[in-house]
Amino acid sequence: MSIHSLNELNFSAGPGALPAPVLAQLQTAIQAIPDLGVSVLGVSHRSDWFAGVMAEVESNLRDLMQLPDSYRVLLLQGGATQQFSMIPMTWLKGGKVAADYLHTGYWSGKSIQDARHQGPVRLVWQGQSNGFRQLPEEDALSFCTEAPYLHYVSNETVEGLQFHRILGNDQVPRICDMSSDFLSTPVDFSRFSLIYAHAQKNLGPAGVTVVVVKDDLLGRATGDLPGFLDYRAQIEARSIYNTPPVFAIYAVLLVTRWLRDEIGGLAAMGRINARKAEAMYQAIDRSEGFYQGRAAMKDRSQMNVVFNLANPHQEARFLAEAEEAGMSGLAGHRSIGGIRASLYNGLGLSAVHRLVDFMDEFRRR
Ligand code: PMP
Repeated sequence: MSIHSLNELNFSAGPGALPAPVLAQLQTAIQAIPDLGVSVLGVSHRSDWFAGVMAEVESNLRDLMQLPDSYRVLLLQGGATQQFSMIPMTWLKGGKVAADYLHTGYWSGKSIQDARHQGPVRLVWQGQSNGFRQLPEEDALSFCTEAPYLHYVSNETVEGLQFHRILGNDQVPRICDMSSDFLSTPVDFSRFSLIYAHAQKNLGPAGVTVVVVKDDLLGRATGDLPGFLDYRAQIEARSIYNTPPVFAIYAVLLVTRWLRDEIGGLAAMGRINARKAEAMYQAIDRSEGFYQGRAAMKDRSQMNVVFNLANPHQEARFLAEAEEAGMSGLAGHRSIGGIRASLYNGLGLSAVHRLVDFMDEFRRR
């Protein structure tokens, strides 16, 4: 099988598949950036060329998100994990009132652990007792109106759970880890005070994390933090506080152009992603229990389809045969096992059809 078709069948949970036209442009740019003549791996982050890249990434993100002017856009390092600490260092440390957190799965659990190093945390909800198989209904949640902020994860990548609504009340700043569903469908971003998403799922390679933060939340930032960890210092330095990941940011630029020009924006992307997820869940639901979806139906993720085989001994064979057929990245997260098909923006509908055909055929056999 050619490298090209193997790339098209990459269901990895992250770093995830990038669109083929973006990979082709990156390949060229590693040799020499068109018009510039030098490799993207050897160009200064202080060059005019890179200043143009930074400006265009920001303006493309603002357009795609329809972001009001009252937000700053940052491109930071340290992954989503660094945000787990930077947020409570900035808005929780030293305070007496607990921040509200939802514990809905593996990654929100990590964010809570890190927040507790900085200050008091109140769990608005915890899904451990149901094995993180479902998300809370609205009437199960009571938010504290005095909390410095509310934090939740919009899509739990490991368990395949996704909120299909915005949580919280408008008095308390909403902070959301959107790492695994950012730019996959339209969202009213103006209802959030801070959004963060690392690039390596829907946006580009690992190494850069998009942080979008509202001015009024920034005005409440406290503490004497090292510059690298201080949002205000990063804003002042326009995300070039130190050497940024030039290559990763260039890739994000190409992905935002692709989203806008080839896909047609977030509404169009959302329609494609809905079709991909629907095809997968239909294959599970018509299998008469042979495949068993992990998440409650109402909370199913459009990005990470997590399931088991009724007979768990057949999962290794499923994965091995899928691999033989050219499909990669399907093993579930090491914490829960099973199968996980990640359907990020860069994965085409035809790849999902291939997987669905394989699932039907494997079941028949
Ligand atoms: N949040 C979510 C929702 C994730 O899926 C992940 C990783 N897959 C992380 C946070 C951690 O991200 P990073 O490895 O970039 O720190």
